[in-house]
Amino acid sequence: MRPLAYIALGSNLGDRDQLLARARSALAALPRSRVVAESSVEETAPVGEVPQGLYLNQMVALETELSPRELLAELQRIEQEAGRVRTLHWGPRTLDLDIVRFGDQHVHEPDLVIPHPQLSHRDWWQRELAELGATE
Ligand code: AMP
Repeated sequence: MRPLAYIALGSNLGDRDQLLARARSALAALPRSRVVAESSVEETAPVGEVPQGLYLNQMVALETELSPRELLAELQRIEQEAGRVRTLHWGPRTLDLDIVRFGDQHVHEPDLVIPHPQLSHRDWWQRELAELGATE
């Protein structure tokens, strides 16, 4: 069976609903992949010291034959395209895409860590995974 990747979507700038919708469409168009479930959209307060607006968050379950690294490259492309659509110059991120889990795989590389190290600190990710029926 193809691994199930859980991808966290977040946006706190611009038309957040539309940015999430475009991200879902971009995920659905990925090669060798299929979106199998989407959590509800939840608004959360930003983490950290920088003053910024509320986030819209959502989790998507993606069945995929891409490797974790191929998936990361695709997510970074989708993020960049969302940024280019919304801003004239590099500024705050309009769209953040994170690989939260990837089947039962563990990755520990400088630029890619799976399961995502913030998973235990982000209760909304845990709620969204539970909503999608993700098992440990
Ligand atoms: P940020 O946009 O601040 O969330 O950080 C993006 C960077 O985190 C990327 O350049 C990735 O190389 C790195 N990264 C490490 N692990 C992950 C992961 N599981 N999902 C997405 N990005 C990751």
